[in-house]
Amino acid sequence: MCGIIGVENNENAAVLASAGLITLQHRGEESAGITISGKEKMKTFRSMGLVSTLFNEDTLLNKLPGTAAIGHVRYTTSAKSSLINAQPFQINCIHGNVAVAHNGNITNFPKIREMLLKKGAIFNHTSDTEILLHLIAMSKGNLADVVAKSLHKLEGAFSLVILKDKTLIGARDENGFRPLVLGKIDGSYIISSETSAIEVIGGTYIRDIMPGEIVVIENGKIKKSFFYKKTKQQHTCIFEQVYFSRPDSIMFGKTVKEARVKMGEFLAKQMKGIKADIVMPVPDTGYYAALGFARASNILFENGFVRNHYVGRSFIKPSQNLRDVTARLKLRPIKEVVNGKDIVLIDDSIVRGTTSKRLLGVLKEAGAKKIHFALSCPPIIGSCYYGIDTPTKSHLIAANNSVEEMRKYLGVDTLTFLSLENLVKACSFSAKKDKVFCTACFTGRYPTKISKNTYKEGC
Ligand code: AMP
Repeated sequence: MCGIIGVENNENAAVLASAGLITLQHRGEESAGITISGKEKMKTFRSMGLVSTLFNEDTLLNKLPGTAAIGHVRYTTSAKSSLINAQPFQINCIHGNVAVAHNGNITNFPKIREMLLKKGAIFNHTSDTEILLHLIAMSKGNLADVVAKSLHKLEGAFSLVILKDKTLIGARDENGFRPLVLGKIDGSYIISSETSAIEVIGGTYIRDIMPGEIVVIENGKIKKSFFYKKTKQQHTCIFEQVYFSRPDSIMFGKTVKEARVKMGEFLAKQMKGIKADIVMPVPDTGYYAALGFARASNILFENGFVRNHYVGRSFIKPSQNLRDVTARLKLRPIKEVVNGKDIVLIDDSIVRGTTSKRLLGVLKEAGAKKIHFALSCPPIIGSCYYGIDTPTKSHLIAANNSVEEMRKYLGVDTLTFLSLENLVKACSFSAKKDKVFCTACFTGRYPTKISKNTYKEGC
């Protein structure tokens, strides 16, 4: 997954974009990058690791002034995790210096790459985003029209920010898989993956960039906005509300927090009559659903886990003899809260089932008597082709096991998944909006054509 931001017409563009990027850090911790332009020659800084690693380059914020900036944070589990694929990508082409930052996954990337290779294109990166730069570089004319023409050739998920001199362009694929929003701060426009990044830097959220829309911004004015493709049906990823987005971001008119509270309320309805001493979240994502559950069921809310925020990704694949240490390192139960208790434990999702199993083991070790494990989404049975890092179907526990088999494997007393119907209700706040979501990971029904050649490893 990735997060993107763009700021224009502002003497502090680089600082604001950096602060916005830190707000979007949850969307990707693997690499970060920022491109600055508008005053001097366009310059891009990229680094592996957190956004803060970029600040080691003291030139970034001080020595290289600019009035426009775009930024990117990236997370992928693919082998292509290296600095070479950190974004933004900057090129010098017929249009001058152009930079692009992308969130999503271009599903027809292999086909287009093959076509471009035959035409003599040279590739510097191994990620799907690069084909867009090639398509842009191969067409003459006004940049916005060239972007529109290029996007026509792409399939899949792409929310984009594009920078050239003082011009900031935002674009979103026709399904609107990944979010992209527009905001304003004084005389400057901001484009961001999430509204929280706009608000953190002192701006105001204006509206979503719509599926299929391209917005061209220059000198604090929207120069042009148009639809490069007519949207047949919006399919925004519902997993954004379940897991990915920040609780204080607004999606479909309400905060993600409110959607998560509703998910918990619906779970409580589904589990009506359940007896337990406490409701406990798996931090951090399970927090608001657990709150909703506790309120709706009148069962006491307790925070029984301490989360260590300093566990880096490098600790994710420990050696066998360190497995127990790792299990306790990230989340540790508070014994006096859980010992001898019947617990409703709420997490957002089960993917492989491995971390959940370890976590439940640690909870039992701390003395939990009964565990009712409840998830604020349905079983994940399909891999995502639109930018979320889910493993292939063979590694998805729910794609290969019944709920009862999973319950036994996890060793819990009951296992409950939020129904799709209730999830959609929780996220849309109105029955009429039930068609705006992509729910492919829960249903296996993909909004675009998927074949064995479909590319899956975007961000
Ligand atoms: P697992 O043990 O593999 O089922 O992992 C479940 C945990 O992974 C849950 O606590 C989720 O919050 C978290 N999770 C869900 N989706 C993702 C994702 N795309 N990347 C990383 N973690 C995830």
